Amino acid sequence: MSNDTRVAFYPGSFDPITNGHVNIVQRGLKIFDRVIIALAQNADKSALFSLEERQAMIREVFQDQPEVEVVVFTGLMVKAAESAGAPVVLRGLRGVTDFEYEFQLATMNKRLLPELETVFLMTERDNFHVSSKLVREVASLGGDVSGLVPALVDRALKRRFGA
Ligand code: ADP
Repeated sequence: MSNDTRVAFYPGSFDPITNGHVNIVQRGLKIFDRVIIALAQNADKSALFSLEERQAMIREVFQDQPEVEVVVFTGLMVKAAESAGAPVVLRGLRGVTDFEYEFQLATMNKRLLPELETVFLMTERDNFHVSSKLVREVASLGGDVSGLVPALVDRALKRRFGA
């Protein structure tokens, strides 16, 4: 890998990956040569899909794009980004609630590792209301989320909830 490869680290829970996440990755690739999707191994969050399942789904979504990588990380995000060789963190913004949290997080991360920059991409209109949490809730109640997640995620949700 040449030194001028621009790498972005995109951390989150991705439980499961939604079209909103996919959109941020695809648009991120207009700015960066590689995007590393980084699954946070977060003990106190009860997840619907295991880390392995989430990782497998993300791999499948981006199977034709070697420039998208998936990793799992524990501990401090800034440390994980640094050891992955990424000088930039990529995050998505939906609305003011995201903004407040993301602003706090970016400020804290800047404190922890000043050379790490955070780049935000605003959600596109169709994904404004899409969140993993809402997708999980609606799918668990038998609602249709097929337009909000990749097809293979929709199938996994249907299997999980016996639909
Ligand atoms: P978290 O556990 O931080 O909520 P998520 O997996 O939900 O992690 O999201 C990871 C990142 O993707 C966050 O920056 C979040 O704002 C962004 N994101 C999630 N859904 C969307 C969406 N629909 N449009 C744009 N950004 C999104």
